[in-house]
Amino acid sequence: MTLPLPPGIDESTFKRVMNEFRGITGPEYTFTTEEDVLLYRDPYSPMWGEKDELIPSAAVAPDSTEQVQDIMRIANEYKIPMYPISTGKNLGYGGPAPTMTGSVVLDLKRMNQILEVNEKQACCLVEPGVSYFDMYNYLQKNKIKLWIDCPDPGWGSMIGNALDRGAGYTMAQFRNHFDAHCGMEVVLANGEVIRTGMGALPYSRTWQSYKTGIGPWIDGIFSQSNFGVVTKMGFWMMPEPEAHLKGAVDFKNYRDLIPLIDIMNHLETTKVFTGYPDIISPVLGFPGLEGVQEFMVNGPQAKDAEYNAMVARGAAPEEYEPYGLKHNIPYWRCIFSFYGPEKVIRAQWEHVQEQYQAQVKGVTCKEWEFYRTPLTEEQIKKLHHPPQLGIPNLKTFVFGARTPWNPDKPSHGHLWLSPIIQRDGEEVFKVNDVLGKAARKLGVQAGFTFNVPYPAWERCLMFIIAFYLTEDQEQNKKTREAFRELVKIAGKHGWGEYRAPSAFQEEVVNMYSYNNHSLQQLHETIKDAVDPNGIISPGRYGIWPKHLREKKS
Ligand SMILES: Cc1cc2nc3c(=O)[nH]c(=O)nc-3n(C[C@H](O)[C@H](O)[C@H](O)COP(=O)(O)OP(=O)(O)OC[C@H]3O[C@@H](n4cnc5c(N)ncnc54)[C@H](O)[C@@H]3O)c2cc1C
Repeated sequence: MTLPLPPGIDESTFKRVMNEFRGITGPEYTFTTEEDVLLYRDPYSPMWGEKDELIPSAAVAPDSTEQVQDIMRIANEYKIPMYPISTGKNLGYGGPAPTMTGSVVLDLKRMNQILEVNEKQACCLVEPGVSYFDMYNYLQKNKIKLWIDCPDPGWGSMIGNALDRGAGYTMAQFRNHFDAHCGMEVVLANGEVIRTGMGALPYSRTWQSYKTGIGPWIDGIFSQSNFGVVTKMGFWMMPEPEAHLKGAVDFKNYRDLIPLIDIMNHLETTKVFTGYPDIISPVLGFPGLEGVQEFMVNGPQAKDAEYNAMVARGAAPEEYEPYGLKHNIPYWRCIFSFYGPEKVIRAQWEHVQEQYQAQVKGVTCKEWEFYRTPLTEEQIKKLHHPPQLGIPNLKTFVFGARTPWNPDKPSHGHLWLSPIIQRDGEEVFKVNDVLGKAARKLGVQAGFTFNVPYPAWERCLMFIIAFYLTEDQEQNKKTREAFRELVKIAGKHGWGEYRAPSAFQEEVVNMYSYNNHSLQQLHETIKDAVDPNGIISPGRYGIWPKHLREKKS
């Protein structure tokens, strides 16, 4: 494969720029050979091997903010498009590949210093290359009683994940990784460096304690955008709780999902439970966090002929209710998580049980698991979902992999379609009806009879619908068309994605069209002001610099 040049840049200029980059990073950290640069392809690209696949022209890996500044000054002078990544593990949403072919990847993983962990203030300050594993190991080694909130893959960057507004699994106030940040350092397109919040105040000791500083709070504009290169970020961390308890509430009927969610909302917004509420459907075989690894390895549990006949004829979800009642299998289960002193969390769990028993007929409750911290190695090994206890791992890559259940057709990656919907059971039924029908019509391989939402964050629900990729380009083309179609159908119902794979960011952003796309126009105005040459991540989340917008229209 011949490497592309950045659009509008001739070969001799490009070579000159690469030599200037080498002068900054040293020769070994500016990458221009195919062997090196193609490592920055997106292994989950939906256009893998096709002419539209997003391919970088080169990569450069600085090791300090000063080096990033020097690189950006040169890139700005020569108008070289740069695509900053932290650890570049954004699989399912674009991986390390740029959003525009020919961009130079600005790989920040060598900037991997944990600059501070303050146990008393429960916060930290890190560079982009610090992964969840790095932070976990640091906390363990130094016996610091703080937890991190990590996404399922532990090898990602705390900063990269937060900038794409990723999600985790411990207490609600830490699960939204961008919300849990406090203070940033950002290098702008012209090489200038800024600090946000209290970081702008010389001698301040509260950069990681108070988020907004004074005046407009601009941190948000650096997430899911292309307005700057983030070189440091602070995060609030979770003090290690004395104990962790999980309690399961089982529901008999299909429509019990409505009170399940309504009561859950109240209990969560009043902080009666603080952990991730894991919604499962035992009768449909939807495993939730608790059973997903086991499901991916061994598949659904064997069922009898009556059940298999329902699956074969594509029975509607409500048709499984009588089967569940007859065989005493709950339709829904919600596993609530609590963190804190044992006395407190036992009282909280008791209150959750009382509320459901008083308001929903036929529920049953049982304690699911209980741990005192710190967990022993043996206990950690047995955990179904370690991120709920702040422990990073890579078990999630069993998803779509070759397993005893799936011996012949391991996937070649996948895309995530992730619409946000209201926290309301009726809405969940409606999404399944509308998107389920549309997906079947479009021939999308549906994972489950019913897609159960993820209550990743307070006040909304998130769906994660996986689209599997294959080696077959024709099939991948159909998958891309189906993805685009579902984005449109979801958008027309008011369900917009919280995050999107690079290949579809423009379509997703286009659905946010209120008042003739006035929000997108504001994004473009900001882009033109802070990056007039349009060198940072052109096209990310649909934001193109002026010269490329003009070319397109
Ligand atoms: C099986 C599976 C399970 C997953 N589960 C989860 C999950 O539970 N939760 C979740 O959130 N995600 C999940 N993901 C998605 C993804 O793997 C993670 O979010 C991962 O942490 C993102 O990669 P990263 O941290 O290396 O970020 P990066 O790839 O480094 O960054 C993501 C993007 O942010 C921008 N960016 C990064 N750093 C900078 C910077 N310093 N300055 C400016 N812009 C920057 C770039 O555009 C980059 O492409 C999952 C993926 C898979 C395949």
